[in-house]
Formats: sequence, structure tokens, C-alpha cells
Amino acid sequence: MSQKFDVVVIGAGPGGYVAAIKAAQLGLSTACIEKYTDKEGKLALGGTCLNVGCIPSKALLDSSWKFHEAQDGFAIHGINHAGVTMDVPAMVGRKANIVKGLTSGVATLFKANGVTSLQGHGKLLAGKKIEITKPDGSVEVIEAENVILAPGSRPIDIPPAPVDNNVIVDSTGALEFQAVPKRLGVIGAGVIGLELGSVWSRLGAEVTVLEALDTFLLAADTAVSKEALKTLTKQGLDIKLGARVTGSKVNGEEVVVNYTDKDGEKTITFDKLIVAVGRRPVTTDLLAADSGVTLDERGYVHVDDHCATTVPGVYAIGDVVRGMMLAHKASEEGIMVVERIKGHKTQMNYDLIPSVIYTHPEIAWVGKNEQQLKAEGVEVNVGTFPFAASGRAMAANDTGGFVKVIADAKTDRVLGVHVIGPSAAELVQQGAIGMEFGTSAEDLGMMVFSHPTLSEALHEAALAVNGGAIHIANRKKR
Ligand SMILES: Cc1cc2nc3c(=O)[nH]c(=O)nc-3n(C[C@H](O)[C@H](O)[C@H](O)COP(=O)(O)OP(=O)(O)OC[C@H]3O[C@@H](n4cnc5c(N)ncnc54)[C@H](O)[C@@H]3O)c2cc1C
Repeated sequence: MSQKFDVVVIGAGPGGYVAAIKAAQLGLSTACIEKYTDKEGKLALGGTCLNVGCIPSKALLDSSWKFHEAQDGFAIHGINHAGVTMDVPAMVGRKANIVKGLTSGVATLFKANGVTSLQGHGKLLAGKKIEITKPDGSVEVIEAENVILAPGSRPIDIPPAPVDNNVIVDSTGALEFQAVPKRLGVIGAGVIGLELGSVWSRLGAEVTVLEALDTFLLAADTAVSKEALKTLTKQGLDIKLGARVTGSKVNGEEVVVNYTDKDGEKTITFDKLIVAVGRRPVTTDLLAADSGVTLDERGYVHVDDHCATTVPGVYAIGDVVRGMMLAHKASEEGIMVVERIKGHKTQMNYDLIPSVIYTHPEIAWVGKNEQQLKAEGVEVNVGTFPFAASGRAMAANDTGGFVKVIADAKTDRVLGVHVIGPSAAELVQQGAIGMEFGTSAEDLGMMVFSHPTLSEALHEAALAVNGGAIHIANRKKR
């Protein structure tokens, strides 16, 4: 007799591990299967997010920003010091310790909640049976009332620049450089390319970003993407738009990259090249031919609005299904699925998933942008407040960027909050909370905000929607 669980989760990333913990909390017997091992060969829970994604990238972003500030940002505060140096292996080591702490923390949470952690490769068979191939090659089959597929995604490879894990790396390799490359190329001006490009640029690399599209940060509000391009370029990132990579050749410890742009064919040489052109769902050997679960035309597991697959009792969440590839989206889908398994009618508001790019300044938004709303024919009022007019931002010497609040011109309901500037991610979350409860710009404007805070910029932008900002001249008169 094979072991049977109420819920079996395949994959222990932020989608899978959160779903497993929630399921156990709701009294369901739960197992979670994970195959990823760390450099020491030990099972490491937490998926892309904790091991090679969100957390390690933010650790390096924070370290590199501190170095940059120590070099260039302290003198204005009257702090004079000389000879700041960077110990790259120590920085990368700190990152590894944070990862270790968090991934072992997930293992502790599994124990505390009674989740059975199983190591190996999980494959869904027909009849909600799951085959587990263990590290020693042995195979076990378990059964489940409900299966949650959460195998995540992996970096997309492109034929013109095959990753060799030495000179040409993907995002995982870019978290492990042991020295600052002198000339660093990045293919792709998306979130990951900009974040990792920023890390190494702050540490002294000459960074060139090759982006095939002519438009920078297509998903962002145009005002934000323009400001971002200006600021990041000023910081030293050479962002080439409309630059399509056509080939590359590794010569020893450097790589010559060929690309085309509006002026024709060009070549450029780098010491390291990061390929960051996006990620694709992981479905290799995940589904037996007779499992009944289908993939869509782009290779994602096909699910409905509630993450149910074509097989009753089988669900899929996170990067392996449609929608944005974000850890918080994966986790919330996990919670939604488990609560629905328990019979609740939980829904997820896909319209209010915040997006963040952790450059400096940070870039973040929630809801729709102005160009989308215009294309949909929605009349809007817009309020903008620059951090240059914020007392808190001035005190911190961090005055770049602005907050933009977009509201429906007829109802005043807030439809989008877009921020480029200090703590943008935290400010946008405040907008998201308001929007979840259907806030109007007037509501936000009537709330009391602590002084002096960066949040006051959100308050003022909301006031500016209807011409009522106090600390900036209003474009729109009341
Ligand atoms: C450099 C980088 C930075 C990022 N920064 C952010 C950020 O700041 N914020 C954010 O929201 N998102 C960020 N992301 C994206 C985020 O990491 C993903 O969206 C998120 O991890 C997806 O969660 P998931 O649970 O769907 O999958 P994953 O985290 O990919 O986890 C899936 C797990 O399943 C395991 N697995 C796969 N197949 C099997 C199988 N058959 N059997 C057993 N185990 C299996 C894998 O080993 C993996 O551990 C970043 C990604 C990268 C690469």
C-alpha cells in the first residue's frame, strides 16, 4: 500500500512551500517534494526565490548600494573617509549565509507545521499518484486526494549566447562572480537584467545592456520608464535599445558579442556576459503521458482562474502557470488553492499584484498605467509629487523620482499607483491596500500621514489628483 496524503505539493518554492504550510495549518495531511540541492549536496527548500532569485539578488543589491554610498554618498553628510574597498567574496559569502538561514528556516517551518518533506524528483501519474525518484535512484509512489504542481521556472537560453557558466552566465551565475568584471554585458533590460547590472555597475564594472526591444520597460507607466532610463543611464548603465544579439564567441576569458541595431551590425567585447532574457516554465518529466494535465500553447500548465488544471483535484501555481513570474503571486495562488480545497470560495485579485524593480531608485507600480487606461478609453485625473519636494527625501539625500496616482475622472477611484524613488516598493504597497478597498484619491488625501515620511509623497500625489496638493504647485486647479 502506498502512502496517501490529503495534499501533495511538487516543488518547494514560494508557491509550493507556502501552499504546503497552509494546507497543514488547515488540518490536511501534507507532503512536499523537492529535488534542489545546494553546493554541499543538501536538500535546499525555498525554490528560485530563496536560493537563486529574490533574496540573493536583494542581498547583493543592498551590499553594492552600501559600497556605492560609502564611496560617493557620504561626503555630503560631512562624513569624510578614504580608501573604501570591496571584498567581493565576503559580499557573496554574506549572501550565501542569508540564503542558508532562510532555506533552513523553511525546513523548520515544515517541521513545526507537520509537513512531510520528501526529497527527489516528483512526477504526476494518472489517478493522482505521484512517482518520486530519490537521490539514490530508488523510486517510490505515493497517492494524494489533491496535487499541487509548483515546479517553477528556469532561465531561457538563447542560441546566439549559450551559457558556459564561466564567461557567459545566467542570473544564477551572475550572483556568484568572485571578482568585479571590468566589462560586463547584459542581454535583456528586464527586471533581472537591470537589477544584476546595477549590482556590478555599483562595484565598478562598465555595464552595457543590450535590449532587442526599442521600448524601455514596456510594462511601466511611460513617465516612470522615461525617468528610469534617464537615471540608470546617469548612473553608468549603457542601455542600448533596439540591439538584437545575433552571435557570440568566447575567446579565453572574454566574449565577443555580435548584435544589430538601427545602424547595422556591431561587435562588442565583454569579460562576463549575463543572459537575462526571461524565464520559462519547468515541466520536464513532470507529467506522465496519461496524467490528464495539459499544457497551453506556450508550455505553461493550463489552469483556470483558480489554478485548477484539467484534472479534478490537480492544481498548478506560480511560475509554471500564466501570469507574472513573481514570488508573491506564486504564494497567494498557493493559499487560494489550499483554501478552495478546504471548500472556501477564496479568489485572488490578479489586477492588484504589485511589480517592483529593486534598482536605485526603486521602481514599483500597482494597477494600470496611464497609457493602458488611455487605450481603454478611460478618462483619468493624474496627480504627481516629486521626491525633490519631500522633506524626508531631502534629509536622506535621496530626492530622485516621483509618485504618480491615477484616478478615474468620473468616480475618483484610484486605478494605478506608480512610483520611482526611495522605498517605492513600500509606498506602492500602501496604494495596493487602498485600491483593494476601492479607495478614491480623495480618501487617500483625507488620511493622516506621519511627518516627515516618504509616504507623504503618496498623500500629496493623491491630493494633486484633484488639484489639492499643498507642497507643490498644482497643475490642475480645484
Ligand atoms: C535573479 C532573480 C530575482 C528575482 N527577484 C524577484 C523579486 O524580487 N520579487 C519577486 O516577486 N520575484 C522575483 N523573482 C522571481 C521569483 O523567484 C519567482 O517568481 C518565484 O520563485 C516562483 O515561485 P515558484 O514557487 O513558482 O517556483 P520556484 O521558486 O522556481 O520553485 C520551484 C521549485 O520546484 C522544484 N522542482 C521543479 N520540478 C520539480 C520536480 N519535478 N520534482 C521536485 N521538485 C521540483 C525546483 O527545484 C524549485 O525548487 C526573481 C527571480 C530571479 C531569477
